[in-house]
Amino acid sequence: MKPATPPAAKGTRRTPAAAAPATNFIRNIVEADLAKDADAGRTWGGRPGPAPVHASAAPDPARIRTRFPPEPNGYLHLGHAKSICLNFGIARAYEGACHLRFDDTNPEKEEQEYVDSIVAAVQWLGFSWNAFGTEHRYYASDYFDFMYEAAMHLIDAGHAYVDQQSAEQMRATRGTLTEAGAAGPYRERPAEESRRLFDEMRRGMHAEGSMVLRAKVDMASPNINLRDPTIYRIRFAHHHRTGDKWCVYPMYTYAHPIEDALERITHSLCTLEFEDQRPFYDWLLARLAEGGLLAHPLPHQYEFARLNLTHVVLSKRKLIELVQERHVSGWDDPRMPTLAGARRRGYTPQGFLGFAERIGVSKSDSWIDYTVFEDCMREHLNEVAARRIAVLDPVRLVIDNYPDTDDETCDAPNHPQHPELGKRALPFSKELWIEREDFMEHPTPGYFRLYPGNKVRLRYGYVVECTGCERDSAGNLVSVHCNYFTDSRSGTPGADTYKVKGNIHWVSARHAYACVVRLYDRLFTSVHPGAGDSDYRREINPDSVKLVTAQLEPSLKEAHPEERFQFERHGYFVADRIDSAPGSPVFNRTVTLRDSWNKPH
Ligand code: ATP
Ligand code: MG
Repeated sequence: MKPATPPAAKGTRRTPAAAAPATNFIRNIVEADLAKDADAGRTWGGRPGPAPVHASAAPDPARIRTRFPPEPNGYLHLGHAKSICLNFGIARAYEGACHLRFDDTNPEKEEQEYVDSIVAAVQWLGFSWNAFGTEHRYYASDYFDFMYEAAMHLIDAGHAYVDQQSAEQMRATRGTLTEAGAAGPYRERPAEESRRLFDEMRRGMHAEGSMVLRAKVDMASPNINLRDPTIYRIRFAHHHRTGDKWCVYPMYTYAHPIEDALERITHSLCTLEFEDQRPFYDWLLARLAEGGLLAHPLPHQYEFARLNLTHVVLSKRKLIELVQERHVSGWDDPRMPTLAGARRRGYTPQGFLGFAERIGVSKSDSWIDYTVFEDCMREHLNEVAARRIAVLDPVRLVIDNYPDTDDETCDAPNHPQHPELGKRALPFSKELWIEREDFMEHPTPGYFRLYPGNKVRLRYGYVVECTGCERDSAGNLVSVHCNYFTDSRSGTPGADTYKVKGNIHWVSARHAYACVVRLYDRLFTSVHPGAGDSDYRREINPDSVKLVTAQLEPSLKEAHPEERFQFERHGYFVADRIDSAPGSPVFNRTVTLRDSWNKPH
């Protein structure tokens, strides 16, 4: 596919958090169609198929049919998520069905691994292709026989011919945007001859590139796509599902409308670059329907603007390069804009749905700022993530007047806005871990946290007064010292007579769970990686991941894979679904609490 519109021309849209509901013109079309019963008489024979399958069948129980048609040649990315939410979402909203169709008409580069990853991604987003008791999971390659028969029909009806011009000759006769094309020497060859040659093509008697089958439409059309497009070519390639059965493969522009019609799709939604293909889509289906091969009513194609997101690349080719050249650890590296990566990163399916809602569906290209995506994730995570304490850059705090071997527990709410989620117990003892940045020996103006002589509250615990620190011979901070006030414990009578400005978090050193936490940041430093002539690989952020050994509150040791938390003050984190073992989870930072990216560093 074409890369997104060059950035300079279009402004970046930052949708404010409280934006009005975004528009979705596709919904308006569907509602209008349903209101006027545009598809009255549409039947469904229980499976995809040509006219006879649906001819005497019952009315379709699905009020609309959409499809999500990925080519299984890579992992799905955030752009595909927009299309998934649109196609499956609209079917769900209007009592329809959405088919998951693997558009596997191109034998090269397609693999089972990709099929599996696509299935997993769509399910993870919470969608199902099961509707009205049927699994609507289809493969375009299952229609190869029909497509071949349909091509023979077009030849017989005078709508297609085998062309033996070289690629160069074809280019020369195709014309330009301003000049009409001209008929080539094979355009008027008898149907009988085309039929024989096409059959020979199928039987492997001709070399790749020696001839193609072309639709016979209109060489003078102002739309170049109608100047006799190629619909079949010879490829001696092994196909991941049909093996070596075929050596002729249909072109996308021919295959896609047929797939839609066999599956009785009502609204075929695709991205804007296919707009110029729509006249051929309609032409082809009309020819096959008048020949009795396809049933009416026929599907309609509608185009919407693809998702362009700043700070990421959304092109399968580039994503494959990132993996193959080992810029990332794999397709599911938490920095990858793939759905597999997003899942590992800790983004949520509900966050995706919220994002799709917020950006809406329109007919004009625009750029969405990555912070809009992150805000949608924060919004959902804020609701569902339990609060926990983690010290990411630990330094020891010693409470000198606390008994050496004692400990006690402090209560902390699991979620400040949801008291029904209860509390958990935080062990408290003489030695704690606190954040290194929560102490300054020589405080700067306005610094309210620990410094000699200052008091702060240890969140959910006691008020302490800093007495000093210890340093090693190189001057590095080793520990901070303080004394506590026995009557200042949070929640006890009189505790609030202590007025302090600072409130810092901590974990008990003796009870803490020490583990690796991965702090992820954006994979690219530039707003539009690879824009213009630049190589996106040179814009990779060298600090896109930082590993720290953190000290976490003990309950986090029991976190199960994919469990999500807010680490107070630090952001949202998830227990990695691959690298976590029972009793020893590893955490990934999904997103910080606030957008720190757009501030000057
Ligand atoms: P890429 O350009 O990354 O190679 P593609 O369009 O070739 O993607 P397909 O597997 O053909 O990938 O895409 C499946 C569906 O997802 C198509 O209907 C396509 O229009 C849609 N899609 C792909 N990228 C985007 C995007 N950025 N925004 C919205 N929809 C998209
Ligand atoms: Mg494609």
